[in-house]
Amino acid sequence: MTTQQGMPLQGSFVGNSGPLSSPGTTRTTGKLLATQGYVVGIEISGSGSHQSVALADLQGQILHRVRHPLDYVPDTQTVLDMIDDMLGQVTAPEKLQEGRILRVGVAVGGLVDASRGIVRTLHHAHSWNDFPLQDYLEQRLDIPCIIDNNANAAALAETRAGVLCEESEIPRKVERVVLYVGLGRGIGGGLVVNGKIYHGAIGTAGEIGHLIVKEDGPKCSCGGYGHLEAIASAQAISRAMIGLSVE
Ligand SMILES: [Zn+2]
Repeated sequence: MTTQQGMPLQGSFVGNSGPLSSPGTTRTTGKLLATQGYVVGIEISGSGSHQSVALADLQGQILHRVRHPLDYVPDTQTVLDMIDDMLGQVTAPEKLQEGRILRVGVAVGGLVDASRGIVRTLHHAHSWNDFPLQDYLEQRLDIPCIIDNNANAAALAETRAGVLCEESEIPRKVERVVLYVGLGRGIGGGLVVNGKIYHGAIGTAGEIGHLIVKEDGPKCSCGGYGHLEAIASAQAISRAMIGLSVE
């Protein structure tokens, strides 16, 4: 990253993080003990063309959200510039009456090494390979950040604030093992075990979209063949139906 590192953002960030850890080392953001302040959530889609930035209170209520979907696949710098711009809108000083931003969480629609804060790849975009997104944002914002795959983040969100949380209107006991399946352009999957995201040995636990279901099957977005996503995603089904209609 060369062009924008260290430049101030449009919004007013008052950070509280300690010294930054060195790039690529394992770290956590620590438990949030504050009772006042805000958190920011950022989502980057698997192609980078959909980004969303939201400001929430510490109970998880979304206060402001902006999205600017693009109709093309942008490069990494374009996505980062747009997120800067959206952060500026969402965190303008008049929106932060109750305190400062305490944490930033980023959900990325690709392969993420969460323990090192790195986007390993976006299957539907180029130029993200091994991008240190967590360090990039922490250095720009001076706020502790955490990044993860978007299905993992969604899985955790469902257990904390969605259909599987203890306060959910749907009566149920709290599940110990949860598999979240995200059906979008592809098929995402996230595993939550005992309330924590389960990444597995190489960070791909729960990624059911890339399980092989058909030997020598159609090519998948990840480059493999015969994966579930290449056969059962919305894109794959419509492609198959177009093929059949031509026949
Ligand atoms: Zn695949």
